[in-house]
Amino acid sequence: MFQGLSDKLQETFKRLKGKGKLKEADVNEAMREVRVALLEADVNFKVVKDFVAKVKERSIGLDVLESLSPAQQVIKIVHEEMITLMGGATGKILIASKPPTVIMLIGLQGAGKTTHAAKLANMLNKQGKHPLLVACDIYRPAAIKQLQVLGEQLKLPVFSMGQESPVEIAKASLKHANSNGQDVVIIDTAGRLHINEELMGELRDIKTAVKPHEILLVVDAMTGQDAVNVAESFHKELGLDGVILTKLDGDTRGGAALSIKAVTGCTIKFAGMGEKMDAIEPFHPDRMASRILG
Ligand code: GDP
Repeated sequence: MFQGLSDKLQETFKRLKGKGKLKEADVNEAMREVRVALLEADVNFKVVKDFVAKVKERSIGLDVLESLSPAQQVIKIVHEEMITLMGGATGKILIASKPPTVIMLIGLQGAGKTTHAAKLANMLNKQGKHPLLVACDIYRPAAIKQLQVLGEQLKLPVFSMGQESPVEIAKASLKHANSNGQDVVIIDTAGRLHINEELMGELRDIKTAVKPHEILLVVDAMTGQDAVNVAESFHKELGLDGVILTKLDGDTRGGAALSIKAVTGCTIKFAGMGEKMDAIEPFHPDRMASRILG
């Protein structure tokens, strides 16, 4: 994950540490390299600009350049600013005071919604909850089957009504959960290849019908800035409570992880780290930054 970015930044910092005392020009030179590394990692242009400006402003302060280990101080500032960039609360599902807690997963086709609906159910089940998985992706027949197979594998219930309207399925699932002692309802909605009004309309209708406590967007980290644009559009239309950034186990460059929060204001709550049912982690900006900076 983030290997290219990580290698480049570490090279820059190694050179900086080799210099001993730093001049303003040394910081500027290092920040030029940081800028290129971030842009090559597909981080949003404006995010990069603001990030570099902030690090520069803090680093060129007299205290830093006059300190005993100026390079270390600069690296520390980069680390802190990177955490701020990805920052915010992490990895928690807001549990409703009156059950069931309703979680609605949305996103484009192939992002990993169905997989992460099941992963979330598994995680919450391990925390002592009784989740119900709900199959609202009625357009892709395989999606219902996929959810049922995952439910069976995890020994967790799956609610489906075939090709019924997604709004009706979602409403009925809450009743079902209430009468069967399930305290978390996880709704797997349909995706599309691209955002369109039909998709948004359907999601809005489900939202209105079941008033989810959490609307989580599932986006594929491998898609870089597209993931950021998708997050921005969904947030504007539906109001997201958080993002699940998937496929971080793959060879992703870092653009999505480093830009989503800064561009959209949405917190990345969870990271998908593989296809297995336990491959989900709370997203920790501090650990992410440490991974990138080595
Ligand atoms: P959906 O169309 O959004 O419901 O997407 P799916 O849940 O069907 O996932 C699409 C593909 O991505 C499947 O082959 C999943 O196994 C795979 N996938 C989902 N999440 C991850 C992840 O975090 N890492 C990896 N490597 N693959 C994932």
